[in-house]
Amino acid sequence: MIPVRDDLRALEGYHSPQVDVRVRLNTNESPLPPPAAWRDAFAAELSRIEWHRYPDRQATELREAIGAMHGVPADMVFAANGSNEVLQTILLAYAGFGRTVATFEPTYQMHAQIARVVGSTVVEGERNADFTLDPAEMRRVVDAARPHVVFLTSPNNPTGLVEPAERVVELLDIAPGLVVADEAYAQFADWSALSLLDEQRPLVVTRTFSKTWSMAAVRLGYVVGPTWFISELDKVALPYHLDVAKQIAGRLALRFTDEMDDRVRLIVSERERISDAMRSLPIDVTPSGANFVLFRPQTIGGRALWAELLERSILVRDCSGWPRLADCLRVTVGTPAENDEFVAALQEILR
Ligand SMILES: *Cc1c(COP(=O)(O)O)cnc(C)c1O
Repeated sequence: MIPVRDDLRALEGYHSPQVDVRVRLNTNESPLPPPAAWRDAFAAELSRIEWHRYPDRQATELREAIGAMHGVPADMVFAANGSNEVLQTILLAYAGFGRTVATFEPTYQMHAQIARVVGSTVVEGERNADFTLDPAEMRRVVDAARPHVVFLTSPNNPTGLVEPAERVVELLDIAPGLVVADEAYAQFADWSALSLLDEQRPLVVTRTFSKTWSMAAVRLGYVVGPTWFISELDKVALPYHLDVAKQIAGRLALRFTDEMDDRVRLIVSERERISDAMRSLPIDVTPSGANFVLFRPQTIGGRALWAELLERSILVRDCSGWPRLADCLRVTVGTPAENDEFVAALQEILR
């Protein structure tokens, strides 16, 4: 065997078990497929593709469409294969060997994971016991580590908590480097850091088609940021990294914002319904601004509850073994019928 890079030896991969179950509520996907009209429009455009040609390297039309949706020009948008690849591209350009990346834990594991894979030093700040972020801790981490990149996830994953706007503004005031707001779930929340974007500010906002847009299978995400930042990403990305079908899929999806908004409204109301149902049981529930809810049973271990649910063919995310999340599980909001099954199972197990 050939030894891998020394700094990779201690790293483990990212695991999210794909088990065959009736009710799948573990990966924060949309429970509903994209609109049928999107499928038809996509099929029609696919039939006209010149398959022997490379795709548009700049993904111009897609970037224009995304920019138009957010009221910014195309040169403030960079798209890639899922927002994970967007994050990787950002970290390749702004972090990497000899540079430092800060996170506030618990948060999305891929931030630290990708940062380490590209060779950066990761500094982990700590959230309060209720998963909110203390401004003093934020200042402590920034002053001590002087990070080149600092992440805030809002709504945060796996907690669901929305970061208040003033926290992002405070961070921008003190951060010496880039501030990345990961907004994979922003449509489910009541504010977005997009409103803070400014050519003079080192703030960038990442989004994905995987969750709200019902397009996890497509693997498409993007970042909106100042033009000086976007042009650096264009240097790092591989040539033609976005295939032609994906460019079309994303551009067409944006014609269906009304349908997307309808799905978001349904999921938000279902989120509140299952949160209330869980609060009427011996369960601690973290208030969520996303399409999932983090919860902790009071009378049985988290792992035991996860297993009981799985026995009923209901799969939720087992966070109980993750640092700082003892006994916690995370449930993705499903269809009303799936949520009924989930709540009924909880009532049966916990009563
Ligand atoms: C799901 C998720 C992503 C990754 O999305 P992809 O676009 O599917 O790669 C990024 N950030 C957070 C916080 C997520 O939960």
